[in-house]
Amino acid sequence: MINFHPELAHIQAFAEGTCPVNLALIISAHVDMCPRCQALTMQAQEDISVKELSRTIQTPGVDVNKDLNDMMLQIMQGTDFEPIDVQPVNCPLELDGRQFALPRALARYTQKTGNWSRLVGKLWQAPVDLGQDGQANFIYMEKGGRVPEHTHKGSEFTLVIDGQFSDGLADYDCGDFTIMDSSNKHMPFSEADEGCLVFTMVDKPLHFTSGLARLLNPFSQLFFK
Ligand SMILES: [Zn+2]
Repeated sequence: MINFHPELAHIQAFAEGTCPVNLALIISAHVDMCPRCQALTMQAQEDISVKELSRTIQTPGVDVNKDLNDMMLQIMQGTDFEPIDVQPVNCPLELDGRQFALPRALARYTQKTGNWSRLVGKLWQAPVDLGQDGQANFIYMEKGGRVPEHTHKGSEFTLVIDGQFSDGLADYDCGDFTIMDSSNKHMPFSEADEGCLVFTMVDKPLHFTSGLARLLNPFSQLFFK
């Protein structure tokens, strides 16, 4: 069951198209998985349209019908549309012969996902090339896998795609979305039989805080960026 959702301000920014591209991608993937946030997004979009329309109607000298007609004409005559990316509805992600179904927003990145590499502590990582918007990662924790305790120099966005994990702060299930920053210190681990697959993005490297893992800090931008 999904317990962790994007905050309402982020859903509204997502609906308006004003939130940063990276955040929009992960929120879009969460919305694909979460009926509650789907309804909120639709409501926010409806509110925006109504506000836009009423503002237009109240502008002196504006003929709404003519403007709408002009807009429709422009759309119909437009030539610079992005081609639609034709992909099968669900391109599963594969690891060791296992297939993971991805939310629609992420399925189109299957082809842009690099090979899996095995990290320390029963962790697997596959980088996702977001083009000019940087990089994200799929991280898979096997049962018993753990990311060493760390804090964040920037923001860390995480969406659970499959399975469950905990981090000492809470337990997370499929579809849960979290944002962590420098005020959060945590140690993600999975005890689920099927392990846990997450999609994650950080804008600055992680900072490992405990024991031997601190030795990883000079390399953390290679692993968890
Ligand atoms: Zn939600």
